[in-house]
Amino acid sequence: MTRAINFSAGPAALPEDVLKEAAAQMLDWHGSGQSVMEMSHRGKEFMSIAAAAEADLRELLAIPANYKVLFLQGGATLQFEMIPMNLLAGKTSADYVHTGEWAKKAIKSAKTFCQVNTVASAEDQKFTYAPAQADWKLNSDAAYVHYTANETIGGVEFHWTPNTGNVPLVCDMSSNILSKPIDVAKYGLIYAGAQKNIGPAGLTIVIVREDLIGKGVPTPPTMLDYKTHADNESMYNTPPTYGIYIAGLVFQWLKKQGGLAAMEKKNIEKSALLYDYLDQSQFFKNPVRKQDRSRMNVPFTLKKPELDEEFLKGAKARGMVQLKGHRSVGGMRASIYNAMSIEGVKTLVEYMKEFEKNHG
Ligand SMILES: *Cc1c(COP(=O)(O)O)cnc(C)c1O
Repeated sequence: MTRAINFSAGPAALPEDVLKEAAAQMLDWHGSGQSVMEMSHRGKEFMSIAAAAEADLRELLAIPANYKVLFLQGGATLQFEMIPMNLLAGKTSADYVHTGEWAKKAIKSAKTFCQVNTVASAEDQKFTYAPAQADWKLNSDAAYVHYTANETIGGVEFHWTPNTGNVPLVCDMSSNILSKPIDVAKYGLIYAGAQKNIGPAGLTIVIVREDLIGKGVPTPPTMLDYKTHADNESMYNTPPTYGIYIAGLVFQWLKKQGGLAAMEKKNIEKSALLYDYLDQSQFFKNPVRKQDRSRMNVPFTLKKPELDEEFLKGAKARGMVQLKGHRSVGGMRASIYNAMSIEGVKTLVEYMKEFEKNHG
């Protein structure tokens, strides 16, 4: 068996140790005689799995006690709708920062529910930077301020946390959650689809301050109301049990790696390997402003786009897959989430050097 060096943007590579552990427990979880997939979500075995996953996530992110952790479904995309439904709380507008493809989708969804104030936008420079807080035109009567911590497609990341005063800060952290320590207390709500940096697709994590729960006006439909899920410990209906289990194994793995400070160090090192090479290359190029470059998703283009296919073919021959850029931007994209090793990135950079030498 050979495992590929997998640069997928999502669903993305998982730590091999986690997959091995899941494989070993596939037929018989801890002597229960059942696969986790076959367990009742209300049985004591699965309840212990879910409780441990939540406890470990709380420990990793140092989530304060006045925040609920919800294990939901519907992806980050359903949160684009649930956020206005629950957080507008009778107000008529919300502030959004427009940084690219994902922010655009969040804005589009919110427009169904309220007036959206685009308080900052990077559109003037093709979404290649994160607008500085000083340029945000915030409204004190907005229900909340929404931003996208890491634009997975454009490769733009906020390396600072906005300050929105008394207006709750809402953040789409789908593609950089758990990549570094954060101060959860600065946020009203954080959400993330699992399939980038947490676990398998099908699980969405929402971390929400308690006072923001149950305030939807009108009251959202039962399944779309955070209160339903908070009151029922994310078990109002059957939760994505296997996804929660794998996420729990990932949380344990992260703790073994030294937690999020250690992950941040590794992620800085990995991304620097790529960016340092890109910056001196005459053949490959990344368009993002230096201080806003993503440590998770590194898009780059070839000087001769007609060589894209050959580049991908050569990568595949060296065991590297899923480097093709998003259809909306073309070129290449190397997604290097927590599970990507430093060796994997080194293999890519070595190949890029060789390719430049032969084709530059
Ligand atoms: C992938 C992604 C989404 C969409 O997630 P789904 O789980 O497919 O709904 C939203 N925001 C960001 C930043 C993403 O990377």
